[in-house]
Amino acid sequence: MNTHEKLEILTNSAKYDVACTSSGVKDRPGKTVACGVCHAFSADGRCITLLKILLSNECIYNCKYCVNRTSNDVPRTTFTPAELAELTVEFYRRNYIEGLFLSSGVVKNPDYTMEQMIKALELLRHTHNFWGYIHAKTIPGASPEMVHRLGLLADRLSVNIELPSEASLKLLAPDKTRAAVLAPMGQIRQMGEQNTRELQLYRSAPKFAAAGQATQMIIGASPETDYQIIKLSSAMYEKYALRRVFFSAYVPTSNDSLLPSMDTNPPLLREHRLYQADWLMRFYKFKADEILSPETPDFNPYLDPKCNWALNNLHLFPIDVNKAGLADLLRIPGVGPTSAERIVTARRNGRLALADLRRIGVVLKRAQYFIVAADHLPPTSKDATVRALLDPGAFNFGVEQLTIFSPTPATTLHLPPAQKAERNALEEVVEGLVAGM
Ligand code: SF4
Repeated sequence: MNTHEKLEILTNSAKYDVACTSSGVKDRPGKTVACGVCHAFSADGRCITLLKILLSNECIYNCKYCVNRTSNDVPRTTFTPAELAELTVEFYRRNYIEGLFLSSGVVKNPDYTMEQMIKALELLRHTHNFWGYIHAKTIPGASPEMVHRLGLLADRLSVNIELPSEASLKLLAPDKTRAAVLAPMGQIRQMGEQNTRELQLYRSAPKFAAAGQATQMIIGASPETDYQIIKLSSAMYEKYALRRVFFSAYVPTSNDSLLPSMDTNPPLLREHRLYQADWLMRFYKFKADEILSPETPDFNPYLDPKCNWALNNLHLFPIDVNKAGLADLLRIPGVGPTSAERIVTARRNGRLALADLRRIGVVLKRAQYFIVAADHLPPTSKDATVRALLDPGAFNFGVEQLTIFSPTPATTLHLPPAQKAERNALEEVVEGLVAGM
């Protein structure tokens, strides 16, 4: 098999791994259609293009959700470390890529696979003098020594948690254990902290995974609730100092009674809500228990989690933007971390009115229902509030999407039956949400 054929197979096999910021497709963050390229943020915050590839798609494990599982009949191939290093450097020199995202199936055993990955990265770093960004996956079950060596060559490491509970892992990935996944996460955190101390003492000390570690969780292959997923993410951020938890909507790849059927659509809206909740926890100081609870364990598909929280906590609003502290400002739908800080700075010069807030970057379409400003009191209509907050992306209204929120019931008389049904569905959602407020 020539290098081009190997490249095609091994970039295509890597496409289900989403532990990077985007994967080469316009409308679907974290997913690949055109294979081979993804994007990530480097330690200094730059967005960079990576060659996303497997060292090998051979695998001795049989994770039921994975296209590379040993029982799946697909063409298999493996790069030699030299082939992989040369290929990466060629792409890099031609300016196609700025770095490498390297993962692999488990060939022979975890340590053997890691050894091959390490050899490829050593060739890149020491023979080809490649100083581009490298994100490398650690192989579950690999020894601590291998993880350490890999971390000295890569900017970022990741260990995939894969499934949100130990029970699901046992059922769907019988060759993996939760302990084998979590142990390297703990080790990477510890080694990263130790490396920070070494670098403070000796500036020339070798860096260990300077861009930290990340993980990936598959959503929709197993029965865990959104609440369980965000609780687990939150615990992992805290315990292992993760930089990112990536969520991957399950794409059916096998006919197995333990998995959703092959005609199930990937739960993209759910994946989107999880990223929104993740954002709230990382940048808005929300706790997982504020976003969901055992009593309400799943996201409202029609509202983003922050709007949903605001509607469930109307007693905390309106918030006076001229008086509230930063933490309270961050709770207002339509106000982000940057606009909250700008509000605090700008109001030193006088009371802020709606026009000032608009200039600052506040999204008034949502915020106006929750704030008091110098020239503004929030409208009291619950119906209008709900309509303003509904996420149009949750409805598939096609070309009529932009006009559906206009309160013009008479026009429904002339709508085709499908759109009439969709509009009726919208009205039901609004009614339900208003009744629950
Ligand atoms: S170990 Fe990785 S590559 Fe192998 S079957 Fe499991 S998920 Fe797929």
